Amino acid sequence: MPTAVISDVHGNAAALKTVLADIASRGVTRIISLGDIVGYGPDPLECVDLIREKCQWSLMGNHDFGVLYEPTNFNAPAEAAAYWTREQFDAEPDDAKRKSRYDFLDRLRVRVVETPPDGTFPVMAVHGSPRRPINEYIFGDDVVTAPDKVTTILERVQKLCLVGHTHVPGVFTDEPDFYPPPELTGGVYGFVEGEKAIVNVGSVGQPRDLDPRASYVILHPDKAEFIRVAYDIAATAEKIKAIPQLSDWLGDRLYEGR
Ligand code: ZN
Repeated sequence: MPTAVISDVHGNAAALKTVLADIASRGVTRIISLGDIVGYGPDPLECVDLIREKCQWSLMGNHDFGVLYEPTNFNAPAEAAAYWTREQFDAEPDDAKRKSRYDFLDRLRVRVVETPPDGTFPVMAVHGSPRRPINEYIFGDDVVTAPDKVTTILERVQKLCLVGHTHVPGVFTDEPDFYPPPELTGGVYGFVEGEKAIVNVGSVGQPRDLDPRASYVILHPDKAEFIRVAYDIAATAEKIKAIPQLSDWLGDRLYEGR
């Protein structure tokens, strides 16, 4: 049974529902989430409820942490969105529902290492990076501008690590090198004997690689398959623009994938 790996939903229910339908249409029933369920987007409660229902587990991202505790190192629109998101959690009139959503956020793990049901080796999953699971960004440019950083991070990886956080999908290998999905044949990274890799699955709810379609990965025993799905961007962008606490830019950027 392959595993669908989603990340950075960011309160975008239109994108999440489209991705969940795409996953179901492929007959894939096991889904994991790498965190940042909320933040930026207009549907945080719906997204948390869907992730709880559909995913085997989720990790904690920096935005989930920001809503649960406090936003740290956020820019102004992200911080405002975090406080607005917390207000939505607090405004839930049903005591049990409100508490169970907070409990869910509170129990999100920062790092999981497990062998997938159809896998042959343990796979690490973190939101950011293996050395700073919630907060560190690993950028494609790092393989040129900071190769030691990538090499040092890869030392913590046994064979394969799944990440999100930058909202830019692709594969880091131990050259070090970075391959965006269009540079991979058929958008597939086949695992290579003796090669370590960090696979960034991209973002469901706020892609930043100039492709506005929702991004996710299907993990097979021998390969990672990158998938893009078009969704109703206007549905989410219009909701964002109707909420004063959410910057219009958070809607505009969805159309451009940046
Ligand atoms: Zn994110």
